[in-house]
Amino acid sequence: MSEAFIAISKDFEMFGSVEREGEIIFDRVGEFDEISEGRSRYAPKEFLMQRNENVLLLKQQEKKAVFGVMSCDLKGFYLMDKQVLGKDPFYTERRKNTLFANFVCNEPCEGGFCTSFGGPVLEEYDVQALRSGEKYHLLVSEKYDKYFRNYEREDGAFFSKFKLEFGSKMEALQVDGVENRITWNSGLWKEFASRCISCGACNFSCPTCYCFDLYDDGDERKREWDSCILSGFTSSSAGNNRKDLDERLRQRFYHKFVYFKKSKDEYLCTGCNRCVEDCPVGIDIKEVINHNYSGE
Ligand code: SF4
Ligand code: SF4
Repeated sequence: MSEAFIAISKDFEMFGSVEREGEIIFDRVGEFDEISEGRSRYAPKEFLMQRNENVLLLKQQEKKAVFGVMSCDLKGFYLMDKQVLGKDPFYTERRKNTLFANFVCNEPCEGGFCTSFGGPVLEEYDVQALRSGEKYHLLVSEKYDKYFRNYEREDGAFFSKFKLEFGSKMEALQVDGVENRITWNSGLWKEFASRCISCGACNFSCPTCYCFDLYDDGDERKREWDSCILSGFTSSSAGNNRKDLDERLRQRFYHKFVYFKKSKDEYLCTGCNRCVEDCPVGIDIKEVINHNYSGE
């Protein structure tokens, strides 16, 4: 991949997943060999949606290439595209100018449950690379094909076969139909609320959460990542329609498994497991899928 990396670096600012102090994060990279494979500590959504920015000024976006995005995080962009692409000029401009070179996972990772949401490959995205020893099996979109002309490329059938094999190694949860099983008055929301400390980590670490707050700061209007678990999330001059924590937790899971499914025909989760790992009190989204609602 070094040759393609060098060719791409002539047209793009280069970023990649690198190991820093024992954690994988995204940073600038100068060579392909600097890139480490593995799920990053934080989802790479900041490449398209910044934590905090002035929305009164849409700057020209530099072209960025990001190597080493894992499949579950790429799926996060695929899901966010459905909600945001074409509507949010900041996200749309960055998406147009960002090349994602994705490492397809060879083996299931610890804790991940991506096969519950369709598994690790999305053919329509920019560059897919599946490592096999020193070699990469590549699937490249037309837009970026010119950088890979000297490489042998696979077709969608190769990756479909791989996806089936991968799926046989990771047990999928029974997600289908959760939007009809889940119940508004379930005791699960109060049980979660008895433990949750409203830190918002589950939203901030999620590759699919895109909600934000807007506020004025001098002559700037700032947009900042927000969390539906925080008490001010739905506060307005008319009051707050989700005053209680159990209502806000229910909102989080209804958005992921009911509202998004009904409006976009997708669940708003990639099975990356970050929210489970980051939650200080052990609230596990898998319980929402597995819970026996009819037994309450
Ligand atoms: S597992 Fe949690 S952090 Fe990962 S995509 Fe699903 S909701 Fe978001
Ligand atoms: S990470 Fe856990 S404790 Fe923090 S807001 Fe989310 S559910 Fe609550």
